[in-house]
Amino acid sequence: MILITGGMGYIGTHLVLELMSGGEDVVILDNLCNSSRSTLQRIVRVAGKAPAFIEGDVRHRKTLDHLFKRYPIDAVIHCAGLKAVGESVREPLRYYDTNLGGTLTLCQAMAGAGVFTLVFSSSATVYDDCAIMPINERCRTGHPSSPYGQSKLMAENVMKSMAEADPRWSVALLRYFNPIGAHDSGQVGEMPALMPNNLLPYLLQVASGQRPSLSVFGSDYQTPDGTGIRDYIHVMDLAEGHIKALQALRCAQGLHIWNLGTGLGHSVLEVVKAFERVSGVAVPLAFKPRRAGDIAQCWADPVKASKELGWRAHRSLDCMLDDAWRWQMSYRRDAAEVLLPVITGTPSLTTSAGSLSI
Ligand code: NAD
Ligand code: UDP
Repeated sequence: MILITGGMGYIGTHLVLELMSGGEDVVILDNLCNSSRSTLQRIVRVAGKAPAFIEGDVRHRKTLDHLFKRYPIDAVIHCAGLKAVGESVREPLRYYDTNLGGTLTLCQAMAGAGVFTLVFSSSATVYDDCAIMPINERCRTGHPSSPYGQSKLMAENVMKSMAEADPRWSVALLRYFNPIGAHDSGQVGEMPALMPNNLLPYLLQVASGQRPSLSVFGSDYQTPDGTGIRDYIHVMDLAEGHIKALQALRCAQGLHIWNLGTGLGHSVLEVVKAFERVSGVAVPLAFKPRRAGDIAQCWADPVKASKELGWRAHRSLDCMLDDAWRWQMSYRRDAAEVLLPVITGTPSLTTSAGSLSI
């Protein structure tokens, strides 16, 4: 059985569905600080059955001990964490407490329970700003620009030391690039609770008429059309990467680092044009100055994951945008029918962490 911390969140939900469709037994631990219990109904709609779910905090050792006693867990995928870069600058202690403290407590509880297989949700933000693309796993880390990035790097370092000290550990640090898209059922995806920061959720809200225009932050970068370039990866490709990593860990000890990206960079204007083509909806743009802290370009070298895991992202940008748009439409329909309080901001369901996945 696999424990997925943060399994009610955006990435976790897709992972749960992928694992369940492969016949794995899953238990989710989530404190719902950035997700909703209604996610379980959506998982059941797609998977036909419910995963085990414990509402609880990954920083709480007693909850973890109870989980490991109650369920025959043999591996953990650790997605629980806070992820809003700007918020981490304002509230660094909360970020270190959850992202670093939560990881420490989880690793201690795993060792206590004799479970030594761990997949960790890391991020490309651990890499230093680098002029040469693509970014491979040997590129320098060490100077993340936000407490969020620092907390991920510090958690990585904890796991590195731990795996060096004790050969029973098998650990995967998966460095995600820019996950977007949604499950192809249209039932599960990301829904920002507050004003979205990321490109795609903002673009979807403009396209569905909730906001007047999309700000394009910077059109004077040294890139072909002047706008920022990122490596957008379909969340289901990302989920498949976790499953391959888990399979690899089951027959290899030690610590392994894999980039999960497509290896392709797309500019903001390319994303907007592709979205307009796929959806048939025009997106009004407002060109703005560069956003503080942004880099011009960032995309992955995914060759290591391809060679060692036999994994490659294969869904196109059009597919990511099509799935995301279908999810947005289905969510809007549901919201209009039954979930209106979620959108309008019932206090118990909205959080300051930036997004609510349902
Ligand atoms: P998300 O906020 O949608 O999901 C995270 C889940 O963790 C939420 O359901 C939240 O309620 C839960 N959680 C938070 N703190 C917890 C705690 N202390 N105990 C138990 N549960 C807790 O975020 P996501 O996009 O699904 O991201 C998952 C992981 O991937 C995070 O660790 C994030 O930092 C990392 N990541 C995300 C991205 C991205 O762009 N989405 C990129 C790189 C890395
Ligand atoms: N971006 C933008 N308008 C927005 C949000 C983002 O132009 O409303 C740009 C941003 O400057 C960057 C790209 O889109 O070049 C991806 O930004 P996002 O926040 O999604 O990801 P990250 O910066 O974390 O890679």
